[in-house]
Amino acid sequence: MVVLKTSRELELMREAGRISHLALMAGVRAVQPGRTTMDVNRAVHDVILSFGAKPSFLGYGGFPAAACVSINEEVIHGIPSKRRRIQEGDIVSIDTGAIYQGFHGDNAFTVAAGQTSAECEELMSVTQKCLELAIAAAQPGNRLGDIGSAVEQYARSHGYGVVTQFVGHGIGTEMHQEPEVPNYGKAGHGLRLRPGMTLAIEPMINMKGDGVWEDKKDGWTIRTSSGLPSAHFENTVAITENGPVILTRP
Ligand code: MG
Repeated sequence: MVVLKTSRELELMREAGRISHLALMAGVRAVQPGRTTMDVNRAVHDVILSFGAKPSFLGYGGFPAAACVSINEEVIHGIPSKRRRIQEGDIVSIDTGAIYQGFHGDNAFTVAAGQTSAECEELMSVTQKCLELAIAAAQPGNRLGDIGSAVEQYARSHGYGVVTQFVGHGIGTEMHQEPEVPNYGKAGHGLRLRPGMTLAIEPMINMKGDGVWEDKKDGWTIRTSSGLPSAHFENTVAITENGPVILTRP
C-alpha cells in the first residue's frame, strides 16, 4: 500500500530530511585521503545524534553503522571500517538517513577524495544530473515510469550502465515503503504519482555495464561486475500539488 502523508507528517519528514542532509554533508567533508571510512561514519553519526535523532541505517537488517560508505567499484552498502583508508582519487559514495519523531529521511552523495580522473568526474556529474532529471519528472499526474525513464535515458546516452537490481523506494514511518522506484522504465507507464507521496529517488550508475554482485565476505557490499567505478546520488522527495519538493535539504 502506498501511504499518502498529511501536511503535518510532511513537516516532520522535512525535519528528518534536513538532519539527514546535514549528516550526509558532514560525511562528505570527512572524505579526505588518509582518513578511514569509519571516520566518515563517525562524522555522520555525530550529526544525527546532535539533533536528538536516530540513524535509520544502524541495526537495519543487522547493518552495523549509521552510514554506508562505498568506494569506487563498490556500488552501495559498504560497511565503514577503521582499517579502510581512503586514497587520493577514490570516489566515495555515502548513504545515510535519520529518524526524527518517527519519520525517516534518506539521502546519498558521491564525492572524490582529492583529485580524481576525468572519467570519474564525468560519472559523478552524469549521475547527479540523473537524479535532477528524475526529480523534475516527479510531478503529480506523472507516473513512476517517467522517473525511471528519465534516469535510464540520460545515463545510457553517456554509455553508462544502470543498476536494476536495487531501486529507490517509498519512505515515511519506515525507511522502505511501497512503491519501488526503479532507475529504469517506460515514460507514461506505472503507478500514477499523487500529492502526499514521499519517495527516495536514488540513481546508481555504473561506468560500464548494469551488472552488480553481493560480496559474500561481508554479506553487504554490492560491487560492479566490471570492477569499474559506480556513483550514487539520492534525495527524499515529496510529491505536492505544486510539484516535487526535496525534503533532504538544509
Ligand atoms: Mg534509499
